[in-house]
Amino acid sequence: MKRKKTKLKVKNILILIIVIVLIIKGCSLIFNKDETKKVNKKDTTTYSKESLNKMNELNIKNKVDTKKYSKTLDTAIYSDEFNIDFVTYYENIKYVDNDNFIIYINNLAKDGLAINEIDEILSSYSSYSNFEIGNAKRYSAFKNKNPELKKQDIVTRVNLNLDKPYYTDTKRIEKQDDIYALVNKYNYVDMSYVPKNLVPLFNNSNIKMVKVAADAYEEFVKAAKEDGITFIGTTAYRDAGWQKSLYDSYVSKDGKAKADTYSARPGYSEHQLGYSVDLNDPNYSEKRVSRDDYEWIKKNAYKYGFIIRYPENSENITGYQEEDWHIRYVGKDVAKEIHDKKITFDEYYDLYIKEH
Ligand SMILES: [Zn+2]
Repeated sequence: MKRKKTKLKVKNILILIIVIVLIIKGCSLIFNKDETKKVNKKDTTTYSKESLNKMNELNIKNKVDTKKYSKTLDTAIYSDEFNIDFVTYYENIKYVDNDNFIIYINNLAKDGLAINEIDEILSSYSSYSNFEIGNAKRYSAFKNKNPELKKQDIVTRVNLNLDKPYYTDTKRIEKQDDIYALVNKYNYVDMSYVPKNLVPLFNNSNIKMVKVAADAYEEFVKAAKEDGITFIGTTAYRDAGWQKSLYDSYVSKDGKAKADTYSARPGYSEHQLGYSVDLNDPNYSEKRVSRDDYEWIKKNAYKYGFIIRYPENSENITGYQEEDWHIRYVGKDVAKEIHDKKITFDEYYDLYIKEH
C-alpha cells in the first residue's frame, strides 16, 4: 500500500512538472510573438536610409518631419504621381492599401478638399471594389444625409446616382442588347432600339421575348405547373412607342410625379430589352399573382435564370414600388447570385458587372 502511494505521488509530481513546462513554453511562445511584432513595428515606423535619400533628392527633407514616420509619404516618394505641392497631405493622410492611393490624394487635393476630409473619405470608402474617385465627395455628402447606411451601400448607391433626383444625369446604355443591360431611371435605351431574336412565348403567342429568355420562361412556367401554379405572361417586350402611350395615359390620370413611381418613361422601361415579362395567374382574380405565387417565384425563379426585378423594400434603390409579377432574365448564374445575396439587380450591376 505504502509503495503504491509513493508511486502515485511521483506520478502527480511528474504531471505537475509537465504542466509547468508547458505553461512556460506557452508563455515564451506568446512572448516571442510579441518580440517579432515589436521588431516589425520598429521596421515600419522609421524611414529607411533609401527613403531619406529619396527625400533629399526630391528636396522635401526640410518640409517634412523625418522622425515621424508616414507610410503614405513613404509610398508617395516612390510613386510616379508624386506631387511636391501635396507633401503635407501625404504626410498626414492615413495609408490605405490601394494601387491608386496617391492618385486619389492628388485628385482630391486638387479639388480643394482639406486633409482631414480626404483622410476621412479615403479611409472610409477607397477599399471598396466599386469605389470611384469621381464620386468621392458625393459619398460623404450622401453619408451625412443617410447615416444609417453601411459604407458599402453608400458607395453603391451614389454610383447608381441615387443621391440625385430620378431622371437627372441620365445615360444612354451603350450595349443595349447585353443580357446584363441595366435600365432604370438613370439609364435608357434608344427610342428606336429593338432587340434581335424576339420570339413569341409558348403559352401566349401575342407577346415576345428574346429567344434565350423565352426558352427560360417556358422552363419556368412548366416547373410552376408541376407545383400546381399557372402563370401566363401578359406583357413582355414593349417598344418605346407603346411605353410612351402607356406612360402618357398614366400621367394624364395621376399626374407626372405619381405616374413616375409605377411607370417608366419611354426609353426607361426594362420591357424594351425583351428580357422581362409580367406574370399573371389566371386562377387568381384580385391582382396579377397571389402571395403564394410570389413565394414560389421568390424561391424558384432563379433556377430558371430569372430575378425579381422590383422586390419589396427596395423602392429607394430600384426606383419602383414592389412588383411581385415582374421578372427579368439574367441567366442562371447571375440570377442565383442575386437570389443568394438578396440584393437588387441595380446593386449587383454596380458591384459586379460595371467596370470601375
Ligand atoms: Zn413589368
